[in-house]
Amino acid sequence: MQDILNQKAGIDLADRPTRIRVIGHTYLVDFGPSTQPRFHTVNKQRSCSCQLKENCPAIEAVAEYLRNGGQRAPDPMPPCPICGAEIVRDRKWDGKYTKELGWRCTVGGLRHFLDAKAERIKEALRRNQTAVSEHESAAGR
Ligand SMILES: [Zn+2]
Ligand SMILES: [Zn+2]
Repeated sequence: MQDILNQKAGIDLADRPTRIRVIGHTYLVDFGPSTQPRFHTVNKQRSCSCQLKENCPAIEAVAEYLRNGGQRAPDPMPPCPICGAEIVRDRKWDGKYTKELGWRCTVGGLRHFLDAKAERIKEALRRNQTAVSEHESAAGR
């Protein structure tokens, strides 16, 4: 017979083979086959994907796991500056000199990363040109 996860009190973490894995920016909690629902996804806001949300014992399991030196989920990346979609880290494109983090857009791929980079360069050039023309007009007087 399988247990049903109805209330926090009904779950005893101690004698369950709880396993936790970092998936993206969340923690996947596996309470083992005798607990239903078996898998819970806990996000960084300490809320679970199941009906129990903030009251899910999976959150306590994640806290315990972190206290015991478990791997921390990385912080989410800001959205794509071109289209606002989610972006994922791409270490290949980390800036060697600028120390900028490389990424690719889940919608536009690497193109949006390069577009954003090009935008920044154009913006810098515009600022530079403005500085130059201000200088020139000052000199012309
Ligand atoms: Zn849950
Ligand atoms: Zn994009």
